[in-house]
Amino acid sequence: MQTTVLEGYRAALAAKVAELSQTLRNRRLIAIENTPEACERIVLAAQREFAVVTLDRHSQLLREVKAALARIDDGSYGICESCEDAIKPRRLDAVPWARYCIQCQEGIDRGPNPAGAQFAHRLPLAA
Ligand SMILES: [Zn+2]
Repeated sequence: MQTTVLEGYRAALAAKVAELSQTLRNRRLIAIENTPEACERIVLAAQREFAVVTLDRHSQLLREVKAALARIDDGSYGICESCEDAIKPRRLDAVPWARYCIQCQEGIDRGPNPAGAQFAHRLPLAA
Protein backbone atom coordinates (compact mmCIF):
# COMPACT_ATOMS: atom_id res chain seq x y z
CA MET A 1 0.00 0.00 0.00
CA GLN A 2 1.25 3.50 -0.85
CA THR A 3 2.54 5.56 2.06
CA THR A 4 0.23 8.49 1.28
CA VAL A 5 -2.80 6.18 1.23
CA LEU A 6 -1.66 4.55 4.46
CA GLU A 7 -1.22 7.94 6.13
CA GLY A 8 -4.76 8.82 5.05
CA TYR A 9 -6.08 5.77 6.90
CA ARG A 10 -3.86 6.57 9.87
CA ALA A 11 -5.39 10.06 10.07
CA ALA A 12 -8.92 8.63 9.78
CA LEU A 13 -8.17 6.08 12.53
CA ALA A 14 -6.60 8.71 14.80
CA ALA A 15 -9.71 10.90 14.36
CA LYS A 16 -11.88 7.89 15.27
CA VAL A 17 -9.83 7.26 18.43
CA ALA A 18 -10.33 10.90 19.45
CA GLU A 19 -14.08 10.75 18.70
CA LEU A 20 -14.60 7.48 20.60
CA SER A 21 -12.54 8.65 23.57
CA GLN A 22 -14.68 11.79 23.77
CA THR A 23 -17.92 9.76 23.50
CA LEU A 24 -16.76 7.34 26.19
CA ARG A 25 -15.98 10.23 28.54
CA ASN A 26 -19.46 11.71 27.99
CA ARG A 27 -21.19 8.35 28.43
CA ARG A 28 -19.52 7.81 31.78
CA LEU A 29 -20.96 11.10 33.01
CA ILE A 30 -24.48 10.10 31.91
CA ALA A 31 -24.13 6.65 33.46
CA ILE A 32 -23.68 7.95 37.04
CA GLU A 33 -26.74 10.26 36.97
CA ASN A 34 -29.30 9.51 39.69
CA THR A 35 -32.73 10.65 40.93
CA PRO A 36 -34.91 9.97 44.01
CA GLU A 37 -38.16 9.67 41.96
CA ALA A 38 -39.23 6.03 41.56
CA CYS A 39 -40.60 6.28 38.03
CA GLU A 40 -37.60 8.30 36.88
CA ARG A 41 -35.36 5.72 38.49
CA ILE A 42 -36.86 3.07 36.21
CA VAL A 43 -36.28 5.23 33.15
CA LEU A 44 -32.76 6.03 34.28
CA ALA A 45 -32.06 2.35 34.99
CA ALA A 46 -33.07 1.55 31.41
CA GLN A 47 -30.97 4.42 30.12
CA ARG A 48 -28.04 3.26 32.21
CA GLU A 49 -28.40 -0.26 30.87
CA PHE A 50 -28.42 1.12 27.34
CA ALA A 51 -25.46 3.33 28.18
CA VAL A 52 -23.52 0.33 29.52
CA VAL A 53 -24.18 -1.68 26.34
CA THR A 54 -23.21 1.31 24.20
CA LEU A 55 -20.15 1.85 26.37
CA ASP A 56 -19.11 -1.77 25.83
CA ARG A 57 -19.50 -1.42 22.07
CA HIS A 58 -17.62 1.84 21.96
CA SER A 59 -14.85 0.36 24.10
CA GLN A 60 -14.66 -2.65 21.80
CA LEU A 61 -14.60 -0.42 18.72
CA LEU A 62 -11.90 1.75 20.29
CA ARG A 63 -9.77 -1.39 20.78
CA GLU A 64 -10.37 -2.35 17.12
CA VAL A 65 -9.35 1.11 15.90
CA LYS A 66 -6.21 1.11 18.08
CA ALA A 67 -5.34 -2.38 16.81
CA ALA A 68 -5.65 -1.07 13.23
CA LEU A 69 -3.21 1.75 14.07
CA ALA A 70 -0.80 -0.87 15.44
CA ARG A 71 -1.14 -2.81 12.17
CA ILE A 72 -0.15 0.32 10.23
CA ASP A 73 2.99 0.49 12.38
CA ASP A 74 3.87 -3.19 11.97
CA GLY A 75 3.14 -3.21 8.24
CA SER A 76 0.24 -5.67 8.27
CA TYR A 77 -2.50 -3.06 7.73
CA GLY A 78 -4.97 -3.81 4.93
CA ILE A 79 -4.19 -7.54 4.94
CA CYS A 80 -7.04 -9.89 5.85
CA GLU A 81 -6.13 -11.71 9.10
CA SER A 82 -7.94 -14.81 7.92
CA CYS A 83 -7.07 -15.40 4.23
CA GLU A 84 -4.14 -12.91 4.06
CA ASP A 85 -5.45 -11.32 0.86
CA ALA A 86 -5.44 -7.54 0.52
CA ILE A 87 -8.64 -5.97 1.88
CA LYS A 88 -10.35 -3.94 -0.86
CA PRO A 89 -9.84 -0.15 -0.61
CA ARG A 90 -13.62 0.37 -0.74
CA ARG A 91 -14.01 -1.70 2.43
CA LEU A 92 -11.16 0.11 4.17
CA ASP A 93 -12.68 3.45 3.18
CA ALA A 94 -15.95 2.41 4.85
CA VAL A 95 -14.39 0.56 7.81
CA PRO A 96 -10.74 1.64 8.16
CA TRP A 97 -10.29 -0.69 11.17
CA ALA A 98 -11.47 -3.81 9.30
CA ARG A 99 -9.45 -6.93 10.20
CA TYR A 100 -10.95 -9.12 7.51
CA CYS A 101 -11.86 -8.89 3.85
CA ILE A 102 -15.58 -8.79 3.15
CA GLN A 103 -15.77 -12.50 2.25
CA CYS A 104 -14.10 -13.63 5.47
CA GLN A 105 -16.13 -11.14 7.52
CA GLU A 106 -19.37 -12.49 6.08
CA GLY A 107 -18.23 -16.01 6.88
CA ILE A 108 -17.48 -14.97 10.46
CA ASP A 109 -20.83 -13.16 10.79
CA ARG A 110 -22.66 -16.27 9.57
CA GLY A 111 -20.65 -18.53 11.87
CA PRO A 112 -21.99 -20.50 14.86
CA ASN A 113 -20.94 -17.73 17.26
CA PRO A 114 -21.44 -14.37 15.51
CA ALA A 115 -21.26 -12.44 18.80
CA GLY A 116 -17.83 -11.60 20.11
CA ALA A 117 -14.73 -9.97 18.77
CA GLN A 118 -16.12 -9.12 15.34
CA PHE A 119 -19.37 -7.44 16.34
CA ALA A 120 -17.93 -3.93 16.06
CA HIS A 121 -18.49 -4.01 12.31
CA ARG A 122 -22.23 -4.07 12.84
CA LEU A 123 -22.32 -0.82 14.78
CA PRO A 124 -24.28 1.92 13.00
CA LEU A 125 -21.30 4.23 13.29
CA ALA A 126 -19.11 1.70 11.48
CA ALA A 127 -20.80 2.65 8.20
ZN1 LIG B 1 -10.11 -12.75 3.94
